[in-house]
Amino acid sequence: MESNIISENTATDSHPSVSDVQQTTCCIVGGGPAGVLLALLLARQGIEVMLLEAHKDFDRDFRGDTIHPSVMEIMEELGLVERLLQLPHSKMRKLTIQANNQQSAAFSADFSRLKTRYPYIMVLPQVKFLEFITEEAKKYPNFQLVLGANVQELIKEDGEIRGVRYRGHGGWHEIRSQLTVGADGRHSKLRQLVGFEAIETSPPMDVLWFRLPRKSDEAEGLNGRIGKGHIVAMLDRSDTWQIAYVIPKGGYQKLRAEGLAALRESIAEVVPELSDRVAQLKDWSQIAFLSVESTRLKRWYRPGLLLIGDAAHVMSPVGGVGINYAIQDAVVAANVLSEPLKKEHLHLWDLAQVQRQRELPTRIIQAFQSLMQQQILVRAMNSDGQFKPPFFLSLPILRDIIPRLIGFGVWSAHVKS
Ligand SMILES: Cc1cc2nc3c(=O)[nH]c(=O)nc-3n(C[C@H](O)[C@H](O)[C@H](O)COP(=O)(O)OP(=O)(O)OC[C@H]3O[C@@H](n4cnc5c(N)ncnc54)[C@H](O)[C@@H]3O)c2cc1C
Repeated sequence: MESNIISENTATDSHPSVSDVQQTTCCIVGGGPAGVLLALLLARQGIEVMLLEAHKDFDRDFRGDTIHPSVMEIMEELGLVERLLQLPHSKMRKLTIQANNQQSAAFSADFSRLKTRYPYIMVLPQVKFLEFITEEAKKYPNFQLVLGANVQELIKEDGEIRGVRYRGHGGWHEIRSQLTVGADGRHSKLRQLVGFEAIETSPPMDVLWFRLPRKSDEAEGLNGRIGKGHIVAMLDRSDTWQIAYVIPKGGYQKLRAEGLAALRESIAEVVPELSDRVAQLKDWSQIAFLSVESTRLKRWYRPGLLLIGDAAHVMSPVGGVGINYAIQDAVVAANVLSEPLKKEHLHLWDLAQVQRQRELPTRIIQAFQSLMQQQILVRAMNSDGQFKPPFFLSLPILRDIIPRLIGFGVWSAHVKS
């Protein structure tokens, strides 16, 4: 069902309170990984592009900070990898899952075995990555970035989306464009405005995020711990652990009612090494709550509009593949749409082509995430005592397949030269 916030205009109409109207070829809504990369790729092709971001900067707490091998290869194709690697970062080479406080890993995935020049996951604050890409895009005079631009309305003329209206500095502004791209994330306003239907792909759960200090001699990489009906995932950020504590959907109020002391106790029980630090969690304000969902749109486009990244498919946090997928969408969108945009001859089938190329890898990875969620996370949360890992985790073949799936996705997207 289409929302009534889409404005039906004739070409000469204008919104009563709009202070200015600008023209561009492609208007991208959302300066996350998908939006900034698509903006850079189109700008490099000489296409007029305007990137609108609701926030006044790129800094947010608790976002994905991972750059996977496939993205490193894309950076290499763009001639940016050397400079990217000069930014302060760490490298994650291994993922392990330990169960019931046993020393030996129930599962481990070794990224260093991947056949690539970048056999690791680069851990870099997302803000630094977004700033790096937009600084690069700013070198092109046909690129424009507007921060503090909160898109609220779509403009529809003759059955096609022709641009957006946003609230920003000085009130309402209007952008008219050949193509509007919604890269506005998991709570996509554009998706809501066009009323696209989403398919749920994984069982729901919630996650609490917080940080605790990490000692230099502690395990590196990504550590998953399972025990006593709880799951803790610890991401090595050099001198801190970024920690995810997984809870059943809707369990947050109960957890709060039980109090912070009970949470600290539970963390220390699942990860005994943290018992000397959990006391540093003194206030709920140190803990961010994330409602996890995993969905995929049936249709990612309509005339004049394309949705990519989390706006088209909200990814479960399993495997941390959201950024990778958002960036691969951007690469495919630029590959497919650059020529039609340059020729001002964009057809609906060009937009359909982007969905066609990206939908299957999205479906496959979401099926994989769903399997992992059902077989590991849900089972672990439902087990009162000892968690019994599913048999397939011991299959040697998975030790190669899983790092590949996480590192590259089902297949990699490459920048068309
Ligand atoms: C706590 C947390 C941890 C995560 N950890 C990982 C991880 O380790 N690895 C990983 O790969 N993924 C992780 N993810 C997922 C990952 O962050 C997303 O999949 C990825 O950022 C999606 O990129 P995107 O560009 O599609 O959307 P987003 O990154 O969500 O970007 C959307 C942008 O659109 C802007 N926006 C929204 N509405 C409007 C509007 N109306 N007008 C203008 N701008 C708007 C937002 O401000 C935002 O900047 C995590 C997510 C969360 C929440």
